[in-house]
Amino acid sequence: MTPSPAPATQELVDRLLAGSPRHLARAITLVENGTEVGKEILGAVYGGSGGAYTLGITGFPGSGKSTLVDQLVAAYRGQEKKVGVVAVDPSSAFSGGAILGDRIRMQRHSCDRQVFIRSLATRGNFGGLSKATGDVVDLMDAGGHDPILLETVGVGQDEIDIVRAADTVMVVLVPGLGDDIQALKAGVLEIADLFVINKADLPGADRLQQELTSMLSLGGSATHQATPILRTVALRGEGIDALVAAVEQHRRQALASGAYEQRRQERSERRFLALLRDRLVERALKQLGKARGIEARVRELQERRIDPYTAVEQVLAELRLGEES
Ligand code: GDP
Repeated sequence: MTPSPAPATQELVDRLLAGSPRHLARAITLVENGTEVGKEILGAVYGGSGGAYTLGITGFPGSGKSTLVDQLVAAYRGQEKKVGVVAVDPSSAFSGGAILGDRIRMQRHSCDRQVFIRSLATRGNFGGLSKATGDVVDLMDAGGHDPILLETVGVGQDEIDIVRAADTVMVVLVPGLGDDIQALKAGVLEIADLFVINKADLPGADRLQQELTSMLSLGGSATHQATPILRTVALRGEGIDALVAAVEQHRRQALASGAYEQRRQERSERRFLALLRDRLVERALKQLGKARGIEARVRELQERRIDPYTAVEQVLAELRLGEES
């Protein structure tokens, strides 16, 4: 069982659960910074969260993802839904781009208390970004946001790993990609539950659709081949209703087939293992530092006095797993 939080923390949790954006923002910062209070907050809301539907949106920079997300937010607001947006930006660790992103993106929703937007940049530690994403999704969920849109800035490996855990994943492509579509990482194509050809107002949309269809027919399972391809002109809001309907259809299918449950199970497993790995390494390094020092180990390896396997086994043998240091 998760322990109950301290009274002051409980108040923050209560306000967050009541839907206060200010308290949600505070909770996210506390969790992101790895504070004990943050962990208590997450522990307090975890049991009641998990119901929000997550929608992953990925594609090359400039393909119109932000514009599309802005339109999707408007469409879901039209259905009286409270919407969360997490913009994942691994490239902005040092540039402060994530903060800038918060300001320039989706300005028309910035005064709407029913829309909560947060950008996430890379954290220094291992698996930091996907850990932070999972935490932020849970907190937004606890604050009553459903659906939660996860938008990536680009299509790097980190971003793919994050977005593929979403309940429905859309990959955004644009005409003019031409032969480059072949160069698209296979990983990106495989994670798509839906393809969106955005900027369908530009020449080449038909050709892109044909190429995509033939590419899908070449390999993969029947599900892969049947991946819907939607067309949008995000700039003018065209095709958005059909896209929302396609998401809903995928949701129904995934629920009926068990794919939804399976993806969520994988997500929980990855999250648990990543956290465990993180904490074990952290703890081992701390203990190692106190005993003989990492540098000493590295020197031994460098001078070939010990091999890496034996070195790790020795550390593990000495490790006191349950202790902080
Ligand atoms: P992101 O980098 O993928 O988030 O792309 P943005 O949403 O920032 O859009 C990149 C550029 O493409 C912007 O100048 C948009 O105005 C433009 N854009 C977005 N959607 C469309 C569209 O449907 N048609 C056209 N012609 N331009 C679009």
